[in-house]
Amino acid sequence: MHPEALIRAKRDGRSLPPDDIRDFVVRLMEGRATDAQAAAFAMAVYFRGLSSEETIALTRALIESGGTLEWSDGGAPVVDKHSTGGVGDKVSLCLAPLVASCGARVPMVSGRGLGHTGGTLDKLASIPGFRSDLELSAIRRLVDAHGFALAGQSDEMCPADRKLYALRDVTATVDSIPLITASILSKKVAEGLDALVLDVKVGSGAFMKTRADAEALAESLVRTGHGFGTRTTALLTDMDQPLGRAVGNRNELLEALAVLEGEGPDDLVELTFALGVEMLVGGGVASTEDDAWERLEAARTSGRALEALERLVRAQGGDLDAARVRPRLVRREVRADREGWIARVDAEAVGRAAMDLGAGRVRPEDAVDVEVGIEVEARRGARAQVGRALAVVEGRTGEAAEAAAERVRRAFVIADDPPPPVPLLLGRRS
Ligand code: URA
Repeated sequence: MHPEALIRAKRDGRSLPPDDIRDFVVRLMEGRATDAQAAAFAMAVYFRGLSSEETIALTRALIESGGTLEWSDGGAPVVDKHSTGGVGDKVSLCLAPLVASCGARVPMVSGRGLGHTGGTLDKLASIPGFRSDLELSAIRRLVDAHGFALAGQSDEMCPADRKLYALRDVTATVDSIPLITASILSKKVAEGLDALVLDVKVGSGAFMKTRADAEALAESLVRTGHGFGTRTTALLTDMDQPLGRAVGNRNELLEALAVLEGEGPDDLVELTFALGVEMLVGGGVASTEDDAWERLEAARTSGRALEALERLVRAQGGDLDAARVRPRLVRREVRADREGWIARVDAEAVGRAAMDLGAGRVRPEDAVDVEVGIEVEARRGARAQVGRALAVVEGRTGEAAEAAAERVRRAFVIADDPPPPVPLLLGRRS
């Protein structure tokens, strides 16, 4: 079908044959369909949606635009996790070494942060010397040697997704569930996984602000993952308040290391383990959830996961000891000005304050300051006392730290009554 006919068919609500979707993506990559046509296609999908079959066809076409990881060697199961993104989400940094230390292979391909949400690659960039721009062959070698790799999306992988995403980004067509599904899953299926867990976040700091939208995305992701024969599950998790205490880059890395050292905030540990259980059971490494939990706990308490991360960081050129040394920054405390219960810690506001400090980027090409950040000291449901620290902001200048501290102050809502409890784990789809 000619690109114009394909766009018209979708615009008019007709379903598209899988071969025509593939042909359209091939044409786009060969310059035989224009950027304008791809953007019009995205807008037609935004309004008309895609069936499961069409979503699978688009995902497959995006995968086939580049190289993939192949593991047909009878080795350990290959598993991964993808998070839809949030504030303070440093889970990948502790999850990958934990799961790899339990015997699975984890080719963890991560992204950079944008807007108020952080990205694993920016947290990794806080390790002096660390290289995450790896070719597929290098990812493969690292996984063979260490059980896991921490890499960015290689140029070889899903180039059509990169092209389409850049067009969606400037044509108000990012927030379409089938397009998000095809974009996320193309990159994950290209890793050649046996099992995948998706952390679909819900709340102010998340991409999906409502439970209904998050459920729809989780169901679409799981259904499409199954369409590729990948054992796929999704956890819906709370992102109304930041995850853990640290929000930034290097401070988040240090918090992830604390988890591997047997410490770290409870919510971060709980989510890391919940996702790890899905990966180990999904991949067939563990037979039950309890079995998976015990293996993860053993990998943590024995120090095996920490050692695995230290070895991998060295292999990727990084110096973890140097990353533990933080420069002197300007600190400002945010204190409670009234007695009561913390009813809200608005994750998006904290994420935006971190971005103002320089820890995040407004545009994809912006540079990130990996040193600055925020420590959130008080969580929803805790008691607030006058003068007690709610958060600490660390910036480059007094002015920047003051401005961010003011934004963080407004993120906290203190009420007379305790808020109803909100569990971190809100649901599961399989
Ligand atoms: N993340 C992706 O990789 N793609 C999307 O479309 C949205 C979020």
